[in-house]
Amino acid sequence: MFRISQYMRLLAQAERTGTLPAPRRGQPPGPVVIWNLIRRCNLTCKHCYALSADHDYAGELSTAEVFTVMDDLKAFRVPVLILSGGEPLLRPDLFDIAARAKAMGFYVGLSTNGTLIDAAMADRIAAAEFDYVGISLDGIGEVHDRFRRLAGAFDRSLGGVRLLHVRGVKVGLLKLRLFRPFPATEIAAALKGRKAVGVLDRAVSFGAAGGPLFSEIRSALYGQPGAPPVLNWMYGLGGRDCDLRQIASVIDRLVDAAKGKTGEAINLLGVRL
Ligand code: SF4
Repeated sequence: MFRISQYMRLLAQAERTGTLPAPRRGQPPGPVVIWNLIRRCNLTCKHCYALSADHDYAGELSTAEVFTVMDDLKAFRVPVLILSGGEPLLRPDLFDIAARAKAMGFYVGLSTNGTLIDAAMADRIAAAEFDYVGISLDGIGEVHDRFRRLAGAFDRSLGGVRLLHVRGVKVGLLKLRLFRPFPATEIAAALKGRKAVGVLDRAVSFGAAGGPLFSEIRSALYGQPGAPPVLNWMYGLGGRDCDLRQIASVIDRLVDAAKGKTGEAINLLGVRL
């Protein structure tokens, strides 16, 4: 697997020491595979990439065919399988596929809309020992429901996240796609307990202290007990590239901030002053 955080750490180290890491020997690993195992889905989201609906589709792979493909992927040195769809939990053999993938040594993720996760399903997911479960949210409450075209979808997905959390499953959920109304309470709750927060803004607010997202997030955290330091980087201005070295420098700075080291809170990336 190509680990971007590890790569950025190596770049930052090279910048500090002036020495590039030695090239790796041997065959490189294959790509990460996000596998749309089934087209059927219980939702019909506005933005669906698969144009899925809640009925069976012809031409899906049988369990035996999935296993054969899995053997091929292993032979191609694929390290990571993300089981996705459609809604992968609608495949009756999903847990057989996951168990075989784990036994074969893949890093196995599950990408689900989360609405089908009740207590019993959460138990099955936890028992399957997925390395990661991803549940996407497109906004808060009704905003998510509108995109997903199902009233209550947000509550059901969030309920799924909570059921998995209490079972110790590593699950991620938050994507900020909508800016207004700004989900300040939810952001504050999501960032509670963090040691440092870095906000990347691809915009400036003329005359304001920092970028627009930074201002909102800092306001959302203002007055919260134990709120983490919030640092801002404005990047990509005027169409400039934001490269890995810049991101590595952000991470280094955040690590320092988490240790209590002070410095500039508002920064520009990739701009000559
Ligand atoms: S949950 Fe995913 S697969 Fe299902 S309709 Fe929405 S975007 Fe499509």
